[in-house]
Formats: sequence, C-alpha cells, structure tokens
Amino acid sequence: MVKRDYYEVLGVSRDATKDEIKRAYRKLALKYHPDRNPGKDAEERFKEISEAYAVLSDDEKRRQYDMFGHAGIDQRYSYEDIFRGADFGDIFRDLGFGFGFDDIFEHFFGRRYGRQREYRRRGADLRYDVTITLRDAYEGKTVELEIPRTEKCDNCNGTGAKPGTSPKTCPQCHGTGQVQRTQRTAFGVFTQITVCPRCNGRGTIIEAPCPVCKGKGVVQRTRVMEVKIPKGVEDGSHLRLTGAGEAGENGGEPGDLYVVVHIEEDERFKRRGADLYTKRRISFPQAALGTTVKVETLDGTARLKLPPGVESGDVFKLKGKGMPRLRGGYGDLFVEIMVETPKKLSRKAKKLIEQLAEELNSTE
Ligand SMILES: [Zn+2]
Ligand SMILES: [Zn+2]
Repeated sequence: MVKRDYYEVLGVSRDATKDEIKRAYRKLALKYHPDRNPGKDAEERFKEISEAYAVLSDDEKRRQYDMFGHAGIDQRYSYEDIFRGADFGDIFRDLGFGFGFDDIFEHFFGRRYGRQREYRRRGADLRYDVTITLRDAYEGKTVELEIPRTEKCDNCNGTGAKPGTSPKTCPQCHGTGQVQRTQRTAFGVFTQITVCPRCNGRGTIIEAPCPVCKGKGVVQRTRVMEVKIPKGVEDGSHLRLTGAGEAGENGGEPGDLYVVVHIEEDERFKRRGADLYTKRRISFPQAALGTTVKVETLDGTARLKLPPGVESGDVFKLKGKGMPRLRGGYGDLFVEIMVETPKKLSRKAKKLIEQLAEELNSTE
C-alpha cells in the first residue's frame, strides 16, 4: 500500500501551525475513533491519521518529513517510535471517550504507552513583590521578606505518619498506586488503569497520622527570609530563589520563589538602562563665562566643568556616574543644563545688563 502524504491525510496545508494540525486531528479522531466505529476500515483510517498527527505534531519529525518525505521518517524511527513521545495529551479524554491514547497505543503495540503516573508533586512557585528606591537599586539592598508557605513537616519528615510508625503498603493496589479494570468493546479488550481509590495513588496508607500535620506531611508556616537584591537591578526584574517556594508532596521537589523588584520613580533622576539623566540650573553669567558646578549624583556630588557660552538644553556627560551594571562597571550620568534668566533685577543689576547689551550691540 502506498502511504499517503501526512498533510493530505489530516487535510491541512504544509505550513499549518501546530494548533491547526491538532484541531484537524481532533476532528478526524472523533470521526474515526474505534470506540465509535467498529470495523477494520475505521481502524486503518484511525491508525493513518494518528501516525500523521504523531509525526506532524513533533517538530523534529516534521522537519525530517518535510525534507525527506516518508523515507525520512521510516529510516529513522520504528513505527512505535513514531508514536512514543507524540503530543496526544488528553485529546481523547477531552472528547469524552472512556479511553485515552495510552489505551489505543496498547492496542497498536500490545504494550502500555507512556510512563507510570507520577505521584510526587512539585510544590507551587510563589511570587513576592518588593518596591525599592533608585538609590537602593544603585547600592544593592538586602530585604527581609515574610513568606507564608507550606513546608515539609519536621515532626514526621514529610511522611505524614506518626513518628515511630511508618506508612503501610496499600492493601488494595499492593503499593502500585493503580488498579486495573478490563472492558470489552467492539474494537477489542481494553485494560484501563486508574488511580487506586483507597490510597489516592500513593501506594501507601497511613494508619497513625502525624499529630502535627494531620497526615498531610506539610505544614503552613510564615518564613522570614533575607533576600539580597543585587546592585544595578532593573525595574521588573524577577529574582528566582530555587527551592524557596511551597513544599512538594509525597517527596516532590519544592517550588521556587520569585521576588519581583519594582523601583520607585525618582524625582531627580530618570533611568534608561544603566544611564541616568538629570537637570542642573545655572545662572546667566555662569552660562556666558563658563564655570565649574557641583552636580548631585546618586551617591554624593560630582564636579562638572562647563565651557563659556553654554545654552539651555545642552547636555554634558559625567562618565561612570550612572547606575551599576549587573555584569560590572557603571553607566553614565547625562546632565541637561537649564540657564536661568533673572526675573527680578536690582537697579544696579539692571544698569549692568543694559551696559552689557550696549557692549554686545556695538560689537555685533
Ligand atoms: Zn507531620
Ligand atoms: Zn492503593
């Protein structure tokens, strides 16, 4: 039998997105699912669309197929490999069928598909927002956070069993955490494996629960933590503290804590990356004659030399007076000059300026 083109099988274009491919497959799977269509034809068709989907939903396999066609797939993968690792997810269960792809896979190959269910659960990630000043961001800051979270129960070391006792093997599933149910359909006999209802998939049951955590293995606690915010941190940065989130369940890893740093607006400085921008007023004679002025920086003051003839809007750079960079070094501080025009003049000042005007006119 000549194999049909996978795209043709699913009725999608060659540049279809993953979503389009998935949607097309769902539609066809619904139509040809063996649960609904007893008979050899539907079974063949179902295998064909499932194979096309298995290849086209996997980036690497799809690339191989696009380059070399069926040969690219057949030479690299066994029929079983084509299906193993394909993203069938819960497509069938979503569609309301009693069987998942693992059951179909078992029918294709006479073997279970996928891993055993995993009952260790990783703890949840936590997020904590802190707001600091620009000055804090300049210097770096250690903040104390109060984090409410679940932690492993120390009393039972997370087992949930009263110290001195230990969890017993579940008598219903004999420790596997799973129970089997066999069902006969027109398409064949399916063995459905479900979570053991007695132990909820743990494989063990606790006869004497730990009095501290009531058998849960975790307790709720508010933990005070010191978190070092590095100098040069940017607004909106996420600091990840591995393992500082909620405790895992049944021996699972703890989650992570994300500290999100917000930086307050500063009155004097605007920040762009590692550079800072500020304004400095000078007097009209200073602008005309040139001068050296003090400029405020984030950690004190710096001296800025201005040549004669400075105008409002002129920008001068103070090298290295900006924010620290995370990888070392500093940005620059840009100073915009604003020349003040005197508004109230003493009689003497007025006279001097008039003289100045005359002088300037005569030399123009
Ligand atoms: Zn406990
Ligand atoms: Zn059990």
